[in-house]
Amino acid sequence: MQSDRNISEEDSNDVGADAPKIGGSSLFVDCPKCGARLTLLRSRLPPIDSCGFESYILECENCATVLVGVVDPLDEALLVTPAESECS
Ligand SMILES: [Zn+2]
Repeated sequence: MQSDRNISEEDSNDVGADAPKIGGSSLFVDCPKCGARLTLLRSRLPPIDSCGFESYILECENCATVLVGVVDPLDEALLVTPAESECS
């Protein structure tokens, strides 16, 4: 196999909140249950769920609610819902 992808780890430069960058960037969202601020680190190889969205599992550090976060492909807003709800 000669097709190894060279994934570099160059995260030393902080990206400003006004300059979102796909891959390795952070998204912020409030916990829908307790309102705590959660930080999601986006992956360079984002997981795609069965609905075709970039989705992540988060756990609120404050109330331990497990959340499913989906990144809106149109404006990259992070939408979270409690994990027990089905993907619609
Ligand atoms: Zn919470």
